[in-house]
Amino acid sequence: MSVHAAGHSSGIAELDPLIRRVVGGRLRDQSALDDVVQETLARTMAARIRLDDGALAPYAIVTARNLVSGLWRREERSQRHLHRLVDRWEPPGPDDDVVLREQAEAVAVALAELPPRERLGLVAHELEGRETASLAEEWGSTPGAVAAQLKRARAKLRVEYLLALGRIDPPTPLCRPVLMALSGGERRRQRELEAGQHLLECDFCSDMGPTLLQSREKGAEDDVQVPVECDADVVAARQRAREVAAEVGFSGTDLTLISTAVSEIARNIVQFARRGEVVLTRVEDDGRSGVRVVARDAGPGIADLDRAEQDGFSTYGGMGLGLPGCRRLMDEFEVTSKVDKGTTVVMTKWRQQPN
Ligand SMILES: [Zn+2]
Repeated sequence: MSVHAAGHSSGIAELDPLIRRVVGGRLRDQSALDDVVQETLARTMAARIRLDDGALAPYAIVTARNLVSGLWRREERSQRHLHRLVDRWEPPGPDDDVVLREQAEAVAVALAELPPRERLGLVAHELEGRETASLAEEWGSTPGAVAAQLKRARAKLRVEYLLALGRIDPPTPLCRPVLMALSGGERRRQRELEAGQHLLECDFCSDMGPTLLQSREKGAEDDVQVPVECDADVVAARQRAREVAAEVGFSGTDLTLISTAVSEIARNIVQFARRGEVVLTRVEDDGRSGVRVVARDAGPGIADLDRAEQDGFSTYGGMGLGLPGCRRLMDEFEVTSKVDKGTTVVMTKWRQQPN
């Protein structure tokens, strides 16, 4: 398996030997070990944008541990729950099963934990479809500030929901703030709380933290998901990328660069893996905003990433720009791949700050 990273101070690639050590002590089987390492890297890549650099390695370690101990099964269940939280938030009818009733109760408990304004805002926005602009008017605020407030409220809600669902109280006073900071992707807050250290020391949070971030990745709230199987999907991915980038505030050339990179990466999926998906997410970090593209497939993988990343190499890149081309178009670029397992590309473009 190979991993390549660029454009970021702490590369995912550096985590590979670390994870291998952690997992190697617990797993003897070489291919199981490879699988866990690969899955850990993919998950860490996906969560990276919401993690402070100092929390990155701890996050990878606890994720690997969870995978080894089979905790992911529980995590997957929680993910399904969370997905429903977004999909079907209404209280269940009399025909629904116990699980749904429990979820509805958990949502109610979680909502009750929010301050009144956040609770009302969230319900008005998500359930009644009120625009942020109209809420801003009512609150004497700006749409941007309201959006940020709702985002924090959602992050908080996710934590409270999981706690309510598991009917558990966090074991230490630090747990809740750490989980909130992880859930909301608040890097500065994570640093202040030394969230990485806490993840390593606290069994509760080492289970809950990755669950929160993974579910968030899959949560439909902000993400635009485009299944990619045919040429029409490539076009759709490119168009959606343009839309999302425009929403973030990109214009002109940047829009073209981003949609070109997405088009290229989607074309690779159709050509070499046949089927996969492109997920577009608006991201924020310390005041700057950008768009992140995650392209995943379960195709044949890339045997020699070093070569695939060289200009002119055509096996993966085809006639188009290939991976090196995409890398040049974006600010951050990472690819992880394993033969017969698939390839994940994560690339991010940041908006230039107006000075
Ligand atoms: Zn904790």
